[in-house]
Amino acid sequence: MTEGTRTAARLLIVGPQGSGKGTQGVRIAESFGIPVVSTGDIFRANIKQGTELGQKVTAILDAGDLVPDELTSEIVRDRLSQEDAENGFLLDGYPRNTTQVGHLDEFLAGRGEALDAVILLDVPREESIARLRLRAVEQGRSDDTEEAIAHRLDIYENETAPIISVYEERGIVDRVDGVGSLDEITERISAALTARGLRELV
Ligand code: AMP
Repeated sequence: MTEGTRTAARLLIVGPQGSGKGTQGVRIAESFGIPVVSTGDIFRANIKQGTELGQKVTAILDAGDLVPDELTSEIVRDRLSQEDAENGFLLDGYPRNTTQVGHLDEFLAGRGEALDAVILLDVPREESIARLRLRAVEQGRSDDTEEAIAHRLDIYENETAPIISVYEERGIVDRVDGVGSLDEITERISAALTARGLRELV
């Protein structure tokens, strides 16, 4: 691709925990040549490194609660201001409620930008729980306890799901069936984005 004609795709992937949005997000971002901005990954990296931010959010993540909106939005603004996000990005895990949608709108509008598409990965609650239990065994994530899993799914249904109607009103939501093989699901997402006129690099 020649200079000046780089693909710009500003994407958000949404779905309940255990929907596979992390895995699919990485695949899609790679094919568009854009960075994944995952707030969960940023928080976990800070916890691992023992930074001030990490210390502040450890208990919140372990309980499956949400980190305060202002703090989260500030971290995302900083990340999106880095050079590699200039031509696009894929957000995973942010915004997670309507307040954060407002923060993101304001930030992007300030740059004359807006989200191009919101990929919604549809997975039934029972399937999400089963996948999270498996991940708890495989990865040993400290917030994958039974209690925290149920709590996070409740927060998703009560706080995160409402952001979908906000984006649906803007006509940018692509609802994708999240049950199937990894390749099948990636293919469904790609097809939806292509139909929207968003071009992949490869
Ligand atoms: P995730 O990896 O997206 O499931 O996020 C893991 C945890 O990080 C969540 O359960 C929250 O505690 C925190 N977190 C991630 N993204 C956000 C966000 N946008 N707002 C508030 N808390 C968040």
